[in-house]
Order: sequence, then structure tokens, then C-alpha cells
Amino acid sequence: MTLEQTKEQVENTAPQRRCICCRGNGKKTGLLRFAVIQGCLCFDLRQKLPGRGYYVCAQNHCLEKAFESGFRRITKHESKELAPDVQTFVREILLPGLKKRYTEYLLAGYQSHRLLLGADSVEHAAQADQLAAYIIASDASEATAQKYRMNAERKQLPVLGLYDRSFYGCLFGKSDKVVLGWMPGTLFDEFSVLESMIRRLSAE
Ligand SMILES: [Zn+2]
Repeated sequence: MTLEQTKEQVENTAPQRRCICCRGNGKKTGLLRFAVIQGCLCFDLRQKLPGRGYYVCAQNHCLEKAFESGFRRITKHESKELAPDVQTFVREILLPGLKKRYTEYLLAGYQSHRLLLGADSVEHAAQADQLAAYIIASDASEATAQKYRMNAERKQLPVLGLYDRSFYGCLFGKSDKVVLGWMPGTLFDEFSVLESMIRRLSAE
């Protein structure tokens, strides 16, 4: 009920894990992993810390339950508290961590030529049916946003984008970028899961 079933999750044979709160299964990379280090339950941003991992859906409903009782129950009281409260954890640890990963995916995409910067290259790829999604900066003018949303609709492509034009430009040492585009592939799949996690956690 609380796990978002995305197209990738259905199509992909990627490892699945179960949320300790709602018991729903989901793709491992779409869940948040926690691991016990020296008796402390730590958030494992990159899902690489050794030892047993505990997974929670990337949404406030399940995180709140985990902080209330889920972690205590499952670790049998062996762990100290993770953070003073779930809101502090989301604000201070989780969202900054996810934003860092978000920038890493964009850089990896650019380096491997899967991420396109600027209207010309994005539109060129869209014409050639080589585009998987648009990214539109949050501060794009209404007319610009509308134009790309219509293009995306025509090609039945998703429209992403969380941050403003200076964020997307600055990341690549360039001037402001209003429009970017992803070409299909694993990087795009994981990026789009990550973006929906950030969007959901910021909005709730
Ligand atoms: Zn859950």
C-alpha cells in the first residue's frame, strides 16, 4: 500500500527488500537502508555499510513508524537512538544525503553522455526518439515550461526537475541551464527513483 510501484520495479530484476514497517517489498535502491555500527543505528546512504541492513520506505509515514517503534523492535533494543526525532533526521541527514546522490547521478550521466545539457541537444535527442525524460528547472518561465511539457506529452516522456537553473548550470561549471534531458539506461532509472524520493520527502 505504501510502496510506489514504478515501471522499473516491475520490469527490472534488481534485488528486492522488505520495509520493516509496512512489510511492503520494493526495489532495494528505492528504499532507505540502515545498519548497526558499534551499537548505533546509522543511515546507510550508499547501501554499502557492512552487516545486517534494515530497510524502510522513503516516505514519512514509514519513517515515523520506524523511529517510533520499528527500529527498537527489530534491533531488539540493542541500538541507541538514530537521531532526536524523525523530522530532524529527514531535514539534517536524509534530504542533504539524497541531494548529494542526486548531483552524483547528474555528473555520472554527463560523464557517460547519458545526460544532455541545453535545449538544442535535448530537442535533437527527442526528435531522434533517444530521450527518456526532460529535466526542467524549477524557475523556468511559464512559457518555457509549458513548451517542454507539451513536447514531453507528445513523446509520452516524463518531466523531471527539482532545482533552479543556477543549480543545474553550476553543477557543470556552466551558465544557467533551464532544460536538460536523460537518455534511457540504468542511470536514468535510478535517478528518477531518487528524484521521486526527494520530492515525496520534501513535500510531506
Ligand atoms: Zn514501508
